[in-house]
Amino acid sequence: MLDTLAHVPLAPFTTLRAGGPAERLIVVHTASELAEAAKLSQLVGEPLTVLGHGSNVLPSDAGVPGTVLVNRSKELCIEPDGTVTADSGIALQDLFLKTVQHGLTGLEFAVGIPGTLGGALASNAGAYRSSIGSHVTAVEVVEGGRVRWESADFLRFSYRHSILREEQGRRIVVTRVRLRLQPGDSWRALCDAREFQRQRILKQPPPASAGSFFKNVQDPDLARNLPNLPLALREAGVVPAGFLLEAVGMRGFRHGGAMFSHRHANFVLNVARATAGEIRELTEIAKQRVLERFGKRLEEEVLLIGRWA
Ligand SMILES: Cc1cc2nc3c(=O)[nH]c(=O)nc-3n(C[C@H](O)[C@H](O)[C@H](O)COP(=O)(O)OP(=O)(O)OC[C@H]3O[C@@H](n4cnc5c(N)ncnc54)[C@H](O)[C@@H]3O)c2cc1C
Repeated sequence: MLDTLAHVPLAPFTTLRAGGPAERLIVVHTASELAEAAKLSQLVGEPLTVLGHGSNVLPSDAGVPGTVLVNRSKELCIEPDGTVTADSGIALQDLFLKTVQHGLTGLEFAVGIPGTLGGALASNAGAYRSSIGSHVTAVEVVEGGRVRWESADFLRFSYRHSILREEQGRRIVVTRVRLRLQPGDSWRALCDAREFQRQRILKQPPPASAGSFFKNVQDPDLARNLPNLPLALREAGVVPAGFLLEAVGMRGFRHGGAMFSHRHANFVLNVARATAGEIRELTEIAKQRVLERFGKRLEEEVLLIGRWA
């Protein structure tokens, strides 16, 4: 029987350090505990939220109804043919280090993304022109109280998106993930990862944040009309959200305890015990400014969970 805690503040379970309580919270340590808890909750029909490392969520101050499962499962199996099967709660960092030790490469990009594999699937996490979705071959999911394996197509990955972010997908829990990685030069992969990490340290502000708050904008017309945008981005038709935020004066802009970083215009920081409401108000100001100036509605990359007005 798993311990269920009532009215547990979620701020300590998020990297933004904000948000209200979970109605019920259960910490699971294995994939089978995660599956059992998810099945029970789905059969009862209550709201269910899985949290990995909470590095891509903002829970509302009013709290999160139903059950929040904190996923600490972390088993990993690497077969002689290179097939990797991992629990969804494994940290991306550990997954990279353990697979590279077996001569498997491809996850260098993930070093420095402070989340779990399950959380990475939800937003198809990526960096340096790679993303997790392209390495996944199959997932074990719990849906409607039943456990089954599905191929990677089931998750419908696209840029910072998967079915897990959609209304219908919020009831799906991923318990285990099968990945295909390339046999390669481990030393080279470690050097690449170290270089990516170095670049992150230069670009990214210290905590507390949830990484980039908004998704970049894919809009060739807008990109063409921004003379200051670097040529490569103009040609790719991609406008970084940080570029638009900076243009409307959000870099360093503060509201209550929340602030857009000076170092990275798309990072929202909790600098002084910000409430989730303050963070949301700040990001709504930013969205409004970008809409008025560029006619573009920024979309949150960070997931707003719980009871929002
Ligand atoms: C400093 C910093 C840097 C970052 N850099 C990057 C980056 O370069 N690229 C990038 O893409 N992201 C980045 N992020 C965002 C974040 O780290 C990633 O999205 C990460 O993969 C989220 O994992 P998590 O375990 O923290 O997910 P959580 O925040 O715990 O959850 C995110 C979403 O996934 C769902 N979820 C979690 N686990 C499961 C599961 N097992 N089954 C079903 N749904 C699940 C949750 O319900 C929630 O909706 C960064 C964040 C920070 C703080």
